[in-house]
Amino acid sequence: MYKLASLQTQSKTVVSVGSVRFGDGGFAMIAGPCAVESQDQIGATAAAVARAGAAMLRGGTYKPRTSPYAFQGLGDTGVMLIAAAGEQTGLPCVTEVLREHQLALTSKYVDMLQIGARNMQNFGLLEAAAKTGKPILLKRSASATLDELLYAAEYILLKGNENVVLCERGIRGFDPETRNVFDLGGALRLKELTHLPVIADPSHATGRSSLVEPLVLAAAAAGLDGAIVEVHPNPAQARCDAAQALDLEAFGRLMNRLAPLKASLQIPA
Ligand code: PEP
Ligand code: MN
Repeated sequence: MYKLASLQTQSKTVVSVGSVRFGDGGFAMIAGPCAVESQDQIGATAAAVARAGAAMLRGGTYKPRTSPYAFQGLGDTGVMLIAAAGEQTGLPCVTEVLREHQLALTSKYVDMLQIGARNMQNFGLLEAAAKTGKPILLKRSASATLDELLYAAEYILLKGNENVVLCERGIRGFDPETRNVFDLGGALRLKELTHLPVIADPSHATGRSSLVEPLVLAAAAAGLDGAIVEVHPNPAQARCDAAQALDLEAFGRLMNRLAPLKASLQIPA
């Protein structure tokens, strides 16, 4: 049994990242590019998503690409770029770590560490990330059961780090029309099983920018704790996950539609 992650052993956890809170009944938006590409790109994105009302900035700099020939991210340089963009806009930022040796730099400069779908069961990385004391965004593997995700979270909790946010980012299906299958029912079931906050990632779940806004609205209406979406100033030129990136205007529209939905459901702003 995942004793520490279970809702049976503890009431709802609120995870704070700077002034942002996950799990307090609000719906927090994390937005930014799949990959940090340049100072201009992350700076322009950060400014636009901050203006539109995002709570946090995302951007990968150690990228887990399927092909070793694909862009692997800017590495350490990207960490400094996203940290600077976060500081300039006042947005706490999150970036993914792939390997333990990346923890020293990332935990010094970013506010939250992402463990991605591919590393959900990299238990050594989970434990080492936990020991930094930083809040952790733990994404469900594309083929993990909810049980397996909760046991992965348990590895972090067991190291004394209670600041874990879970993320449903789509599971592998049979139909390539969407990149993955967005398991909203699974995400809601998670909230029955665990006290940890749960957010949605409709960008990776669908692989299509046109489906991101409606699924963010669905996630908010269903009672999840937030969403993480990919945003790029020029999606056609994105070096990673171009088809699922919202442009800056589309992100603004999404936030404009989210606000009245939240108000009507009495979700705090
Ligand atoms: C990402 O957030 O860019 C990413 C690689 O996510 P996932 O681990 O869900 O594929
Ligand atoms: Mn991506």
